[in-house]
Amino acid sequence: MTVSRENPARPSEIVGSVPVTAPEAVDAVVQDAHREFRSWSARTLEHRLTALALAADRLGARVAEFAVLLARESGKPVADCRGEIGFAVAYLRWVCANAPAVLGKSTLDDAQGRIATTPAPFGVVAAITPWNAPIILALLKLGPALAAGNTVVLKPSPLAPLTITAVAALLPGTRVIHGGPDTVQALVAHPLIRKVAFTGGPEAGRSIAAAAGRALTPVLLELGGNDPAIFLDDFHLEPDGYERLVLASFATAGQVCMAAKRLYLPWHRLEEFLESYRAAAQRILRVGDPLDETVTMGPVVNRAAVARMRELLVDAWNRGGWTIPLAEIPAGTDGYFAAPALVLDPPDDAKVVCQEQFGPLLPILTYDTEAEALARANDSDLGLAASVWSADEDRACAFATHLEAGFTFVNTHNRTGMSLRAPFGGTKNSGFGREYGLEGLREYVQTTVIHAPAAFRAGGAGLPARAYPPA
Ligand code: NAD
Repeated sequence: MTVSRENPARPSEIVGSVPVTAPEAVDAVVQDAHREFRSWSARTLEHRLTALALAADRLGARVAEFAVLLARESGKPVADCRGEIGFAVAYLRWVCANAPAVLGKSTLDDAQGRIATTPAPFGVVAAITPWNAPIILALLKLGPALAAGNTVVLKPSPLAPLTITAVAALLPGTRVIHGGPDTVQALVAHPLIRKVAFTGGPEAGRSIAAAAGRALTPVLLELGGNDPAIFLDDFHLEPDGYERLVLASFATAGQVCMAAKRLYLPWHRLEEFLESYRAAAQRILRVGDPLDETVTMGPVVNRAAVARMRELLVDAWNRGGWTIPLAEIPAGTDGYFAAPALVLDPPDDAKVVCQEQFGPLLPILTYDTEAEALARANDSDLGLAASVWSADEDRACAFATHLEAGFTFVNTHNRTGMSLRAPFGGTKNSGFGREYGLEGLREYVQTTVIHAPAAFRAGGAGLPARAYPPA
């Protein structure tokens, strides 16, 4: 059986198809990955990092080619696709440069004895990834996992399965399977899967965490966000800052985990803000075919996402939210396009405010006091990212310490604020575990220790059998 993927900008165009792995066929793939784990983990760290550096070079040489395929299957503008794949190459190289600091063995050998500490790989890792940034989100798992000596079975999303399958073929120690929830369940529950890394929505996250829990397998969860962007009353943005802000919400048609999804603004600065924001949107937002180099916003991922935007709009209208359109969708298209818009001051329990919209709608929420803004921003089960905007960086950083978010940007939001060296991940229901930074490398090792107490060496003083060692 195969699953095919259409181009969301032109749904009648089938971009390609991939074979589906039935649940009963998962065992053979995991067994195979486990066999390779034995040899891959026995290689030196230098050997593994050399292989990863080679993979980074090979991927780097094909960025333009892969970007076109990714744009066609995901609907993301081709320039964004080049950016994502280029970032993934940079991340692989970052792993190669920084892994030795985290993955090296260490030995303490003194008068008390010898303690040899090894950051040991888990074994076979199951990586389950979403469609919206399929290359970087897979490589955030593959890079550190492979460097540490694990092998990986990767299960990408059926909504963007093609490019990542081709990219994964460049990497050592990696197998790719495709399929739905039953295939994922068979993978996560497999007794030879020793670590699960998942990025995606909360529903899938819960069922994967439950299956991993039953198997007593550790799990890393990178789930959704409903990120607040809080503008303090002294915020100052140049026109290019407004453009950055527009893309912080509308890049990838708003379908980014860490997009700015709720914008809190002091009410007395609303008018000037809207004027500059709309002007920036007019300059920078161009909706259309992702292969057109001038387009900055493509379609949403499928028909259900279009319907979801409509549902959020109707709910906001019914509750008094006022819509400000930002750009038009191409005339006469049958693609999955949704028009980008602001929704002005809907109530806090409107769906577009209290749920992750994951699409091109942004509520603008006015506030009176900073304390009120903080309370409303934190009033969410989700706690992935956030941002604070102020002319005074110290003031913004101080405010940021009160936000319930795993990652808070200052005077930017979304990908312009990412750093390879800064650990990223959620609080509350946005997940646990971290990607990027040294913490992202540590996720794929467990510390094992060999301890030879000096007391029991030949000629050592020994200890009575029931004694504890001295402190
Ligand atoms: P999704 O949860 O629908 O799918 C993610 C993966 O899980 C896919 O491989 C999919 O096939 C699989 N899956 C789906 N339902 C499943 C189930 N019931 N059981 C087992 N596996 C299942 O997510 P998506 O639509 O691809 O991505 C959107 C979501 O991902 C958003 O909530 C977004 O915020 C989140 N996301 C989070 C991050 C992060 O770093 N925290 C990054 C990107 C996306």
